[in-house]
Amino acid sequence: MNKTRLPAIVVHGGAGIYGDDTVPEAIEGVRLAAAEGFRKLAAGESALCAVLAAVRHLEDDPRFNAGTGSVLTAEGTVENDAAVMWGEDLSAGAVGALSGFANPVLVAEEIRREGTHVLLAGEGARRFALGRGLASVGPGVLVTERQRARWIEERERRKAAAPAPAVVHGTVGAAAADASGHVAAATSTGGLLFKFPGRIGDTPIIGAGTFADDLGGAASATGQGEAILKVGLTRRAVELLRAGHGAMEAARIAVGELSRRTRGEAGVILVDPAGGIGWAFNTRRMSRASCDGAHPEPAAGIEAD
Ligand code: ASP
Repeated sequence: MNKTRLPAIVVHGGAGIYGDDTVPEAIEGVRLAAAEGFRKLAAGESALCAVLAAVRHLEDDPRFNAGTGSVLTAEGTVENDAAVMWGEDLSAGAVGALSGFANPVLVAEEIRREGTHVLLAGEGARRFALGRGLASVGPGVLVTERQRARWIEERERRKAAAPAPAVVHGTVGAAAADASGHVAAATSTGGLLFKFPGRIGDTPIIGAGTFADDLGGAASATGQGEAILKVGLTRRAVELLRAGHGAMEAARIAVGELSRRTRGEAGVILVDPAGGIGWAFNTRRMSRASCDGAHPEPAAGIEAD
């Protein structure tokens, strides 16, 4: 194995149609998150530590649709989905429709570490997190002015039956390979604006929004969850890596298949165990940033290449 690119990390801040005014902040956000994750890798920590650090950083950044700054459901509440997976032993943890936690990815990590279940949802997930000593926050704490305004705008649009506006995504995710060639992935989201309460998207479904296996690589998806779920996008991308495709090529093939089979909009980032990084999306933009052993300073972008 050529290990010159190890360690490596790639993060995304969502695929979709970003307004031009939000481009600089999205690029800055993913750049900082990639740097945060890479610092862990450079200090000899695992890919798992790195993806958790990067995703946690983006959950705390109110400009992204995860943790603080999540979109609101049709009832004006916040319900988060998140997952983490470690490629060495396939251990995984995930939460769906979780309310009241600033860092849902840390609840997912607690489920992974505890090891009995993979996915907990709603009230059960909340009780599990509280039982494991994670602190909850009040109902309004994760709601930003920006998301409240978007929710009101969307409610009025629906009342007037006006055409749907461009969908803005802001889900966050990371995939990393550490110096030992182990891989991990994590993803976190508030889901889709005005979603029906209880709706769970692709993010916490292993193999759809999040997947990691040392035998192929790690991947995190973003976009229309209902389309990503149907094709198992991250599992498919990692299978393509395992079959010998390069990381960029695997990402393009997987997103191309999703486009043809579902006509949905999505993007994926991935890393192979040798530190090869790839991404692809069929939306107008997807913010992403990456660092590896040969390029420790984050390289960020948002347009298609
Ligand atoms: N995939 C997320 C979901 O459907 C949304 C997104 O990536 O923006 O919940």
